[in-house]
Amino acid sequence: MADIEVPVFIVGGGPVGLCTSLLLSRFGVPSLLVERHPATSIHPRARGLNVRTMELLRTWGLEHEVREAGRALENATDVVWAESLAGRVLRRVAAGGRRENIRPVSPTTGCSCAQDELEPVLLAKAQGYGVGGIAFGHELIGIETGPAEVTATVHKSSTGQELTVQAGYLVAADGADSGVRQALGVAAVGPGILNQQIGIYLEAPLGHLVMDRPAVLYFIENAAISGLFAAVDNTDRWVFYTGRPPDWDQAAGGLPAERCIELVRLAAGLPDLAVRVRSVLPWAMAAQTAERFRAGRVFLAGDAAHLIPPVGGYGMNTGIQDAHNLAWKIAGAVAGWAGPSLLDTYEAERHPVARFVTEQALLNIRQPGRPEQYATLGMTLGVSYDSAAVVPDGTPVPEIANPVTDYVPAARPGSRAPHAWLQRNSERISTVDLFDTAFTLLAGASGQRWRDAAAMASRDLGVPLAARTVGQGGDLGDEDGTWA
Ligand SMILES: Cc1cc2nc3c(=O)[nH]c(=O)nc-3n(C[C@H](O)[C@H](O)[C@H](O)COP(=O)(O)OP(=O)(O)OC[C@H]3O[C@@H](n4cnc5c(N)ncnc54)[C@H](O)[C@@H]3O)c2cc1C
Repeated sequence: MADIEVPVFIVGGGPVGLCTSLLLSRFGVPSLLVERHPATSIHPRARGLNVRTMELLRTWGLEHEVREAGRALENATDVVWAESLAGRVLRRVAAGGRRENIRPVSPTTGCSCAQDELEPVLLAKAQGYGVGGIAFGHELIGIETGPAEVTATVHKSSTGQELTVQAGYLVAADGADSGVRQALGVAAVGPGILNQQIGIYLEAPLGHLVMDRPAVLYFIENAAISGLFAAVDNTDRWVFYTGRPPDWDQAAGGLPAERCIELVRLAAGLPDLAVRVRSVLPWAMAAQTAERFRAGRVFLAGDAAHLIPPVGGYGMNTGIQDAHNLAWKIAGAVAGWAGPSLLDTYEAERHPVARFVTEQALLNIRQPGRPEQYATLGMTLGVSYDSAAVVPDGTPVPEIANPVTDYVPAARPGSRAPHAWLQRNSERISTVDLFDTAFTLLAGASGQRWRDAAAMASRDLGVPLAARTVGQGGDLGDEDGTWA
């Protein structure tokens, strides 16, 4: 007898695990998430949420909270190259593409919000449903998979107790060094580690240097140092990333604080700058993708499934979008309306995306400053799935000159539904907002029979299916005639 029995067990309380918990709760599926650390991330690693991730957060009712959490970086939409933070700016581009290109195709825009500010928002939302349990200070230490269930052993750090958890499915969102992936013998393929880096999380009064030229990232290149200042609040909190210096000594705790301060001063261009080092994160820039995203009842998601070099800021976004792809399928399997083969489509759909995104990040490294690095609307909104869950309509794949930069709205099966503004009573909503916890059928204003048929099919098959009519006299108004 296991100590705990739960339909879904989630390992890892980073953004991907938290989103998986949140999503399963939205489907009413109980889960248990364990995270070995005592709380959410203390280091502001990722900060760029792309427009697709923001669409998802909007559907989950989190757009406002996330923008509030990232308020300090509200105006920091650019990426800058400079000789030093105090020195000459060499180049500036808009990260995530220009807003005027995004507005016609999405109800929202990308947002900058440091990961340590984002995770508490996701956590509060996930806990708020009261459906999924979240246990910090609990580490997965063993896993056994069977044909009908997964059994895990968990160590509780506060008491030293060992607990067994039995679950129908396990989602491994346990990050870059995924112990679950290794325990299951799933190989990770790709170039692997590209270089060793450090991230110095620091406090220093640098806001006045960037007040009139705010950016989210400041690449620094001068004779003494090259690296990257990532803004946390664009005033006093920053992370400075640079290659791991030769005098880094892991056994002796890394680098002395004075050495970190020296590096920061060189990059800031201010030899007397007052710097307080909060923490130093050693990390490896790596590129690899798990050979499989599924092993029986276990699914890999986020960094556990794919390590994407953070050159372009795609890693967390890809992981959150994995969770979005996976959660409804597991929910369907738990509820019994989905057959087990639906679960295979997670890998079929997300593996090619992870590979493509990783290739783009590698190209960004090989060809610094390539235009595609910060103009990714095609890659972000134009993902099109081809799997056994998608019923083709016979239309050809649209020809797109550059699938990274160019997004062409398509209602083709497998695509994200294109955005059009609609009216629900006095509220303005997007078509994108309608695709949430049920299959969704949209019909024209005179599509009452479609609605009736959908209601019947939903009832007879036990599949959640919402149907709406759009246009004059329908459930939803077609504000500017774009929907049709
Ligand atoms: C310097 C840097 C900058 C980045 N910038 C961006 C960016 O701008 N945009 C972007 O999209 N991405 C970026 N990324 C990538 C992003 O940080 C990751 O992709 C993201 O954190 C992955 O989320 P995750 O939940 O999959 O994994 P993680 O955030 O790593 O979370 C995994 C969690 O699992 C826990 N865990 C592991 N093993 C166990 C166990 N056995 N038991 C219990 N818990 C366990 C860990 O403690 C950890 O909290 C950046 C990464 C780095 C390093």
